[in-house]
Amino acid sequence: MVLHPVLVLDKAYSPTTIFSHKKAFLLDYLGRCEVLQYYERVVITSPTSEFRAPLLIRLPILMRNWESSFPTRRAVFIRDNFTCAYCGKVLKDGEATVDHIVPKSRGGKWQWENLITCCKGCNQRKGNRTPEEAQMELLFKPKKPSPLQVAVNYWRRKINGEFKEVAKMFGVNLSTPLVKG
Ligand SMILES: [Zn+2]
Repeated sequence: MVLHPVLVLDKAYSPTTIFSHKKAFLLDYLGRCEVLQYYERVVITSPTSEFRAPLLIRLPILMRNWESSFPTRRAVFIRDNFTCAYCGKVLKDGEATVDHIVPKSRGGKWQWENLITCCKGCNQRKGNRTPEEAQMELLFKPKKPSPLQVAVNYWRRKINGEFKEVAKMFGVNLSTPLVKG
């Protein structure tokens, strides 16, 4: 089944994250969200009926409850669009590694600002050194992303026209790579 993106607003109508239409449909069924807009063209079918899929929903919570400060490996890759920060190569799932910019052995922590996506070659070459010591320049700076930024990167390829319109209405930036620059 093809999954379609649903823009998720928090209680204060701030865009917060993106869910699949299936998840949003389930939350609506359970009475856990308010559907503000439906897809014109995406439907969910059961053996006996047909429902239009949610496109825009609102959750009864505030955004700060969502902020997660602890990065997972996968979230780092998604934040960086699976791009090696040293050579710029776009990596496949199994090729990406996480580099501690300041090495772990030198007190570098597992936190957004010290973690970057890296290919195996660059990771080996850099070894136990800082980028300056290794003379390897970072092509982009790692920042702590919002859950929405991670979600936009994750959904990038599945974004459709109807979603674009709704995202535009709420000022969600879908076009720029989020970590570059
Ligand atoms: Zn590389």
